[in-house]
Amino acid sequence: MKIPAKLSNYIGGKFVAPHTKQYFDNPNPSTGKLLCKIPDSDKRDVAKAVAAAEKAFPAWSKLSPPKRFKILNDIAEGILTNLDALAKAESMDSGKPLWLSKSVDIPRAHQNFQFFATAQMQFSTGAHHMREEAINYTLRQPIGVVGCISPWNLPLYLFTWKIAPALAVGNCVVAKPSEITPCTAYLLGQICEKAGLPPGVLNIIQGNGQNAGQAIVEHPKVKAISFTGGTATGARIASLAAPKFKKLSLELGGKNPNIIFADCDFNKMVKTSVGSSFGNNGQICLCGSRIYIEEKIYDKFKRAFLKQVKTLKVGDPLNVKSNLGALSSAGHLEKILNHIEIAKEEGAKVLTGGKQIKLGGKFSKGSYMEPTVLEGLDINCRTNQEEIFGPVVTLTPFKTEAAALKMANGTNYGLSATIWTSDLNRAHRMAEKLEAGIVWVNCWLKRDLRTPFGGVKNSGVGREGGWEAMRFFTEAKNVCVAYGE
Ligand code: NDP
Repeated sequence: MKIPAKLSNYIGGKFVAPHTKQYFDNPNPSTGKLLCKIPDSDKRDVAKAVAAAEKAFPAWSKLSPPKRFKILNDIAEGILTNLDALAKAESMDSGKPLWLSKSVDIPRAHQNFQFFATAQMQFSTGAHHMREEAINYTLRQPIGVVGCISPWNLPLYLFTWKIAPALAVGNCVVAKPSEITPCTAYLLGQICEKAGLPPGVLNIIQGNGQNAGQAIVEHPKVKAISFTGGTATGARIASLAAPKFKKLSLELGGKNPNIIFADCDFNKMVKTSVGSSFGNNGQICLCGSRIYIEEKIYDKFKRAFLKQVKTLKVGDPLNVKSNLGALSSAGHLEKILNHIEIAKEEGAKVLTGGKQIKLGGKFSKGSYMEPTVLEGLDINCRTNQEEIFGPVVTLTPFKTEAAALKMANGTNYGLSATIWTSDLNRAHRMAEKLEAGIVWVNCWLKRDLRTPFGGVKNSGVGREGGWEAMRFFTEAKNVCVAYGE
């Protein structure tokens, strides 16, 4: 399994060129060199994909759960069989270390298919009994053709997180990966074909957001959109989909607080905080970019944290010794460096990092950056309010629990929050009051796929995961049968 020089769309079970016959470049961010060409698809390709999905829907939606299980589980197994090739493709495409793709991204893509293949066997609906009068039962029916649009930070991981539940409950899908990281989505098409997924059940359109992505959102036959990406794009998608009454699931940006109390398990907290700050170069929507530290341990934390951050090795993603690889694209690097300049203008003291890293040889055109720690910023400044989505964190001291809570809730975002404390009462009190869809206490990124996943405020609408995803991808219909007088 290899990345070809030119990717194709996967429509109606066939690998096809875009209608325009035009392609654009997909560079490898670790070297700056061309990795492959991407189809520049437009609404004509999307129309073909939707037609193929509509054609496939009657048979796929009627398939028995055990038969659907077999196909979806074979896709999961196909991902596992090709783990090495997929992980390499993911790293070359996104710049993330190979060890990370191998241990997190691709195994999770496998689990996504495995989880929902099984879940659809257990999915049940409710009944409401009106004593001696009637019985209500609820049907959960697939929607039809649905659209799934995903970002570049966890490419196959998030692509499959949407596609797997959509297919599991009987929908047919038109999906688009990010143009920054199209490769593993393309390879997934090959795996689906081999697993015997009927033609048209899953269609993968490559291209950019404005053309291909928006065409999926706007197509009248696409009845639901599951989107993960930036808040501004989410708002645009909502403005297009809402007047057409499409179902919408929006998983958007974050500016997550990491709240550290003096009574926590210090060593565990520091080690985990390095990961929650700089994992995948800070390009995880759940990274804790605002670190709030109880004043009495502020200096101790700063020393211990900086010591560990300074040991992080940034380099070739394919080298096992690299803790961090390249950023996802040259454009993203530029955006983050610009944020550093803004932070300095806002009065930030750069404790470590802040600069681009120039590696030599074949990596000289790669997009590398130093892990960056800032302090001395006002909590309301742009650096503490806007999502940077890179290896940049700010440190801010607090005196009381109330002050920490106020700061933590003081942005427009509300995706996740982390609390470090050994005081159980405080942990529950804070968890209840934090404006976030996900709260971790004394841990970070512990994920159980059955739990609801999503954000509040500008971090999104709706929840993914477990039954939540399966409910999103189905329509509920209540049937009331009267049997009394
Ligand atoms: P974008 O919003 O730029 O893009 C996300 C996807 O939407 C891409 O496939 C993109 O295509 C596509 N797209 C862009 N414009 C449109 C449009 N008008 N209509 C339809 N589709 C469109 O996000 P990024 O890819 O930059 O991802 C980073 C963002 O994702 C961050 O804000 C991060 O917080 C968020 N995120 C949220 C998560 C969550 O669970 N809440 C998880 C992971 C990331 P193209 O790439 O071709 O432009």
